[in-house]
Amino acid sequence: MEPDIATAPPQPFRPPPSSVLSLDFEQLKTKLSGYLKPEDVGRVEAAYHFSADAHEGQFRISGDPYISHPVAVASIVADWHLDAQALIAALLHDVMEDTHISKAEIAERFGKTSAELVDGLSKLDKIEFRSQEEAQAENFRKMLLAMASDLRVILIKLADRLHNMRTLDSMRPAKRRRIANETLEIYAPIANRLGLNNIYRELQELSFEHKYPMRFRVLSKAIRAARGNRREVVGKVLASIEERLPQWGISAEVQGREKHLYSIYRKMLEKHLSFSQVLDIYGFRVIVHDVPACYLALGALHSMYKPVPGKFKDYLAIPRANGYQSLHTTLIGPFGTPVEVQIRTREMHHIAESGVASHWLYKEDEKTLTELQQKTHSWLQSLLELQSASGEATEFLEHVKIDLFPGEVYVFSPKGKIFNLPRGSTPVDFAYAVHTDVGNRCVACRINGDLMPLRSELRNGDQVEIITAAHANPNPAWLSYVRTGKARAQIRHFMKNAQQEESVALGERLLNQALRPHGLTLGQISNFAWERFLRDRGVRHKKDIFADIGLGKRLPVIVARRLSQAQDQESGRPNVIKPKPAGAIQIRGSEGIAVQLARCCQPIPGDPIIGTIRKGQGLEVHLHDCPVVAKLRGDRGRWVDVEWEPGEERLFDVTIRVLTKNARGVLARVASAIAEEDCNIQSVHMDSEQGAYTALNLTLQVHDRMHLAKVMRGVRRVPEVVRIGRVKADGRA
Ligand code: MN
Repeated sequence: MEPDIATAPPQPFRPPPSSVLSLDFEQLKTKLSGYLKPEDVGRVEAAYHFSADAHEGQFRISGDPYISHPVAVASIVADWHLDAQALIAALLHDVMEDTHISKAEIAERFGKTSAELVDGLSKLDKIEFRSQEEAQAENFRKMLLAMASDLRVILIKLADRLHNMRTLDSMRPAKRRRIANETLEIYAPIANRLGLNNIYRELQELSFEHKYPMRFRVLSKAIRAARGNRREVVGKVLASIEERLPQWGISAEVQGREKHLYSIYRKMLEKHLSFSQVLDIYGFRVIVHDVPACYLALGALHSMYKPVPGKFKDYLAIPRANGYQSLHTTLIGPFGTPVEVQIRTREMHHIAESGVASHWLYKEDEKTLTELQQKTHSWLQSLLELQSASGEATEFLEHVKIDLFPGEVYVFSPKGKIFNLPRGSTPVDFAYAVHTDVGNRCVACRINGDLMPLRSELRNGDQVEIITAAHANPNPAWLSYVRTGKARAQIRHFMKNAQQEESVALGERLLNQALRPHGLTLGQISNFAWERFLRDRGVRHKKDIFADIGLGKRLPVIVARRLSQAQDQESGRPNVIKPKPAGAIQIRGSEGIAVQLARCCQPIPGDPIIGTIRKGQGLEVHLHDCPVVAKLRGDRGRWVDVEWEPGEERLFDVTIRVLTKNARGVLARVASAIAEEDCNIQSVHMDSEQGAYTALNLTLQVHDRMHLAKVMRGVRRVPEVVRIGRVKADGRA
């Protein structure tokens, strides 16, 4: 709703020029000397000269030399009594961006901490908020906080923003509106959450002025007009409060204040009020010494003026999330004018005004420091939702290094939408967060414009672009690195559907194989045995058992043993103890599918491998460069990334081909060379003699590639051996 005061003739209104603008470094130095050690002041001065040199010849849009900006920012930071490292960072905060001075150079001259702070600030500068959605603003705020792992980065950033807002006049109107909006949506709420009340208010006022210049002017004019009428009332109230409190034995400081334009404007908007209906544009603040005095003062005030029912709030007993504490009450003053009063102790006042910065402000006073620190610590903790901060309060504040959102990471889509993912998430998680179809069709990704592997870990502020292909399918290997439940569930769901049919056929085949050592085939298992088997397990169809086996949920050897027992019981065959079959090969990325090593290329651990799901045969694992694979490459979707599970203990078959000179006893010498390396020979095949040479095809059992290499080295040492090689496909070396 538009305020109904638009009829008042608009008049230009300028807030009084900020003294900060006229500050030069000498004034800053005076401020610093008030609380920093002389050697620290010297270091800050060195940073000033360095920054002035770096920005030499640069000007702000206002025409001022550029260095005036970092000095002003440092001056705001100095008002909070931040340490020398933060001051140095404030002075250098734009040099990396604007003058291409490296982080390493800053670290070398001014120390690692200041360099980290400047780097953190430069990173924040690179990301820009565009979206109008409210939920996005909250995510963006969190992203900024998460990127600034050091609280000082946020404080300097707020000072930077404050100075830019104070000097926004020289910008074009469109840019002013954009910056004002961003300030209102992002930076003012951050200041509020950190309890930096003064900055919060000033950022809001300045944003309001630049976002709605007309409304701002009209409203400020109306307030000035109203001031005249109400001054008398306010004066009366102030005088009588100041008189009454000492009578109750309370020594207090009473401050009268005009409410902020923006909060009046918000109130008009939210409650659909005209300006004349917004009565409480004045407020009072009563500052006392201790908590009992707060309640005593409240009693004194309520004895003077009637309180407005329902307006009393006790933020002493229940502080706000950002640590704010006060008693709030609204009194009905003379002529029925409502007057809001806040009552608090001096300490609470400092926290309310300066928030997180307040613990730097009172370093001298050891006792106050501890109390303030504890308070700051406790509300920071609730604010940051930290599970538990290790160490003492003092230590926590000394290091101020905090991870504000340790479990989360914030990234952008190419269109600037922000996604909030668990820490450690990958582009695949992002793809599924965008849409299931995007996840299922994703083949590659760009992070900040560069092609990156899908398993890359995303970092705060990354811009992620997913490349999809119409016929692509999810890869089971993704399951080894996705973080989100959604991605995991969708990949599994896809795999399950795709495998259902294949699993039944595969399971049937595997079970048939497993029955062989029992001297049985599937066809020989009677219906009676099957029924008994299914009934005991509460399964309805044979097919379900086959599917379970195919999906790796049941072991074929166990099903075979039970079926054979059921069959034996029926036919009265004695139960014989069967040899224990070899365990399954563990291959990563196979996710419960039956795995077979391809016969054509006989991969062994250590070989680069690739898997293919073949109808009715499960996952078949080939060498990466297997010629059979090359032939099948066309059928894309079926290829899966697999890798060897470490710690595999069984032996693998592999065939080598050895060309030797014909000589007596040569086979024996080759065989003993192999045996010496602790390796079994499974079979030997000797090609017909080719003149003076003989070709031996030996199938060996090895642990892995290293083992094979040792065996081959051993064989090569046999004098008659001319050539040796591994057979990788179709018996050809
Ligand atoms: Mn700046």
